[in-house]
Amino acid sequence: MAAIVKSAREAFATGKTLPMSFRRKQLEGLLRMYDEGKQEIMDALKQDLRKTTFEGTLYEIEILKTDVKGILRNLKDWTKEEQLPFNALSFTDNASVHKDPLGVVLILGTWNYPFVMALQPLAGAIAAGNCAVIKPSEVSANSSATIARLLPRYLDKDCYKVFEGDVTATITLLEEKFDYIFATGSVAVGRSVMAAAAKHLTPVTLELGGKSPTYIDDSVNMERTVKRILWGKLINLGQTCIAPDYVLISKARQQEFLDVASKVLAEYYGDNWQKNPDLTRIINERHFNRLKKVLDATKGRVAIGGQTDQKDLWISPTIIVDVDPATDSTMEDEIFGPILPIVNVESPEAAIKFIRNRPKPLALYIFSENSDLIEKFKTKTSSGGLCVNDCVVHTGYVGLPFGGVGTSGMGNYHGKYTVDTFCHKKAVLQRGISAVSEKLGDSRYPPYTNGKIKLMSFGIGAIHKFDVTYNKFVTHALAAALGAGILFAGLALKSL
Ligand code: NAD
Repeated sequence: MAAIVKSAREAFATGKTLPMSFRRKQLEGLLRMYDEGKQEIMDALKQDLRKTTFEGTLYEIEILKTDVKGILRNLKDWTKEEQLPFNALSFTDNASVHKDPLGVVLILGTWNYPFVMALQPLAGAIAAGNCAVIKPSEVSANSSATIARLLPRYLDKDCYKVFEGDVTATITLLEEKFDYIFATGSVAVGRSVMAAAAKHLTPVTLELGGKSPTYIDDSVNMERTVKRILWGKLINLGQTCIAPDYVLISKARQQEFLDVASKVLAEYYGDNWQKNPDLTRIINERHFNRLKKVLDATKGRVAIGGQTDQKDLWISPTIIVDVDPATDSTMEDEIFGPILPIVNVESPEAAIKFIRNRPKPLALYIFSENSDLIEKFKTKTSSGGLCVNDCVVHTGYVGLPFGGVGTSGMGNYHGKYTVDTFCHKKAVLQRGISAVSEKLGDSRYPPYTNGKIKLMSFGIGAIHKFDVTYNKFVTHALAAALGAGILFAGLALKSL
């Protein structure tokens, strides 16, 4: 492990990751890998999760490709040095924000979307000029091996290294000093990573999980609402970090939700769900047993589904009602599977209170046609992301950041936000050395006098008024006044 990190560090020290041409070539390599390696990627996803070609193509490969293409298109813009606006009080200086790469970064992926979780952060790390060690999840072993096999064919082998290993190996790897750690996983993984990072004071992004609530207001069209919720819940058989975890709905509309859900599930998956090729499988026996325990222990009523088959790692889409949120097994931890408990709340205010009394979620979903109510949820709740009248889709929405808050994580990524994550924004100030520049600043020198205090206080207090944005405002105001003056003068002349 030490040797892997050392060699990545040596590669970074050569400066080869700095030229834009190098970064561009690596990103283009990633794109080629997604095209040429598509079949190998699909095969691995099938072996690990029995993921369908539809979900593998759209929710792994296309997400990765779109992100890389966006980064390539904006590479120059997102990584360029940013000049501060012209300021009349400091016109002899040159101030800018320079975007430095951080060095050697570690990326820890998880198993539910094994390619996206390991490789989407990598694109931003490359764009920002870093070297990286990528550690895919050992739980999705075939995908991990595929990443280890494919990546060296398309990327610089010295700068980008894949490390494969189990939890013990990962913990040992975390003893190495990295310049940044980007980790995706459970809250427990987040704690372990952060503790290890603290030893070296390494900054982290933690993309974690938790229970994502879904509130359904009485104003909604139930058919559209249920279709969207069940789609979001059942892609990857519920093993999605932002899958709707539970539903909050009034007792009055619960039966309608269940009736529509039965109809929609029949439309989606026919009458033998286990045989339907569009449904993925639970990743392994450990997770199957975890979910089975939740099902066995619930005191709620299974209204839809509830079947399990250990040999097939199958748990059917299941909806549970009459759930006591304080004690039920379904309301303890993130479900991360196809089980959807329903909790009754009698008003939007009660739903807001319910959400606020629990850890801040990674995603919050509201289904409502009442704009005041939507605004209320926006301002009165805190969550990594908020999606109104749909679920999950906000993660692939180009231009939006993705990340958690509180226990659901820290930091964010996707597109420009990933590139920003892997850059250090270095303040660079180049002072003028002319006689004028020296004169402008010489009141700071001793001996200190009251006159110098006044002059310096004026300068410090007024500096923001002299930047170009303020000047623009003044210029526009003057131009408007001049225009009005000319108009009045014209009218006055005409009336003579
Ligand atoms: P996992 O078991 O694959 O672990 C993730 C990574 O952490 C792996 O590389 C693993 O080797 C490493 N790891 C495991 N235990 C560790 C430990 N004790 N110390 C250090 N490293 C360790 O995945 P998981 O944790 O089961 O992932 C599922 C969780 O991830 C869910 O909670 C889900 O919500 C969350 N998740 C979040 C996002 C997001 O973007 N926020 C995305 C996917 C999954």
